[in-house]
Amino acid sequence: MSLSQQLPSPATVAVLPARKGRRQTEQRRAVFDALMAKADHPTAVEVFMRVKGRLPSISLATVYNCLDTLVECGVVRMVHRDREPSRFCANLQDHAHFFCTNCGSVTDLPLRKPFEASSLWDLPEGVSVLQQDTTFRGLCGSCSASKGGVVAPETGGMVGGDAEAGGAASAAV
Ligand SMILES: [Zn+2]
Ligand SMILES: [Zn+2]
Repeated sequence: MSLSQQLPSPATVAVLPARKGRRQTEQRRAVFDALMAKADHPTAVEVFMRVKGRLPSISLATVYNCLDTLVECGVVRMVHRDREPSRFCANLQDHAHFFCTNCGSVTDLPLRKPFEASSLWDLPEGVSVLQQDTTFRGLCGSCSASKGGVVAPETGGMVGGDAEAGGAASAAV
């Protein structure tokens, strides 16, 4: 079963509890739209810069609040990379993240076919996986090309059985 089937659809955002009224719903919607408009995994500050064009009065604190709510509701994922500020991802399909160690870009790697986590990972006994966050590191296509074809190690291993890429892979359950 696809993990994304357990998550609310983007349409849910429109009907999330509007505890503080319409204004809050509008702000949340704008934050969500900014994430959907460009799948480049922006930080909260970057989201703030984008939303400001549409809602000039919005504050950074409000953007943080909106992001928190969206993450809580399961319509947005937080993406962590080392000690850098968290990034946000509104792609609800099962996917892994590819971090370019040169330019810092974060790319979604769609899953070729659904799989059981236990078919790829050695899971501790008794755990139940709610979400998978797999991370690959290496050079993105353009960085790899500009470095004279020094290609990062195989990156297609997620379904094939070996998720190691660029020397590091991690999964959180
Ligand atoms: Zn993503
Ligand atoms: Zn790159």
